Amino acid sequence: KKKHFVQQKVEVFRGSDRVLSVLMWGVNHTIGDLSQVPVPVMLLPDDFKASTKIKVCNHLFHKENLPGQFKFKEYCPQVFRNLRECFGMEDQDYQVSLARSPPLKDEEGQHAGLLLTSYDRTLVVKEISSEKVEEMHNILSEYHQHVVTCHGSTLLPQFLAMYRVTVESENTYLVVMRNMFSHRLHVHRKYDLKGPLVSREASFKKKGKELPTHKDVDFRNNMQKVYVNDQDKMKIMGKLNRDIGFLVHMRIMDYSLLLGIHDVERAEREKEEEMVLSHEEEEEDDNGLAAAPGTTSPEGIAAYMSSFKSMGPGEFDPYVDVYAIQSAAGAPQREVYFIGLIDVLTQYDTKKKAAHAAKAVKYGAGAEISTVHPEQYAKRFGEFINKIFA
Ligand code: AMP
Ligand code: AMP
Repeated sequence: KKKHFVQQKVEVFRGSDRVLSVLMWGVNHTIGDLSQVPVPVMLLPDDFKASTKIKVCNHLFHKENLPGQFKFKEYCPQVFRNLRECFGMEDQDYQVSLARSPPLKDEEGQHAGLLLTSYDRTLVVKEISSEKVEEMHNILSEYHQHVVTCHGSTLLPQFLAMYRVTVESENTYLVVMRNMFSHRLHVHRKYDLKGPLVSREASFKKKGKELPTHKDVDFRNNMQKVYVNDQDKMKIMGKLNRDIGFLVHMRIMDYSLLLGIHDVERAEREKEEEMVLSHEEEEEDDNGLAAAPGTTSPEGIAAYMSSFKSMGPGEFDPYVDVYAIQSAAGAPQREVYFIGLIDVLTQYDTKKKAAHAAKAVKYGAGAEISTVHPEQYAKRFGEFINKIFA
């Protein structure tokens, strides 16, 4: 365990990953600054356009592996602070999760920009384009209203912060969300579901990965079902319909349902195997002092969880793993499902404009554009999701 951790750290700080170290620095800096400012009585329209910027030049030393020069911009700090509060995320815990130890890279993100998981696995950091930053601004006020109205109980991504990191005049835009999967329970199968079955099968190459993202066709071919009791299904569909209503209202489409499946018995088997292995390792270097990262300090949500509660197989704390649902009593397997909506930053009008431009280049101006409307998309999506339950 210890050897592994040290190696990760070195890896993370290789030259190309200065973005990461600036992110950690920026989170510390902005949360620290914010804690000096009293929480406003209410948010004002200007808060939804605001941002803070800082430029740092430290020519003399490369403290904490930081680049000599960098810039850090935080978008709408007051709004996101309020969102974190709505989602029950303490700023101190947020800061510890992102800045105590470097976030880890997810192989998933390699083609489409960075995808990081905080070292304690409670948060996900995703690289987005500057267009998505604009879309976030377009929807932020209504998104905030939606979150307040539903008391934070939503299947939408929990957007917790948005930043721009500039290193060597190159901008990287990052959005931080709560991890839809568990910080503790391993996800064994993962689906990304949209509904329409055309060209929605994970490629063979992708299926070979350790945790491939399966798609709609795979879901059908695997005869995959989600076994939850009627009450849980009603709760999920209730949230989903409210969220889809919001997305239609914002003219958003192309979102997916992210479904993660934790197989309780398989996890038990894996744990036993791991215990046998670690016994062997202990005998080898005879030094059991290395504590897992996160358990050495009382701070941080994951550390809190592991120090105060001992949980059995398949158990989770619904305040931390907010997207988790237990399989029903009579289900064929004991499973825990993680269900949420991802990719919610594509508005119809932007998409159509982009499609027009692309098609005009490829086929000449005036080519047919086959883009369904947000209403049609939502209808198909809702109908499909209703059928994933056993
Ligand atoms: P910048 O922060 O200048 O690098 O901008 C990145 C993207 O976010 C650009 O597409 C901007 O149009 C958009 N953007 C930045 N600030 C705002 C804002 N206050 N309102 C709307 N869009 C914004
Ligand atoms: P996207 O680009 O939003 O479609 O996301 C690509 C992949 O990132 C998904 O298939 C998920 O595995 C992962 N992902 C995105 N957002 C989250 C999240 N909030 N929690 C966990 N995983 C996520």
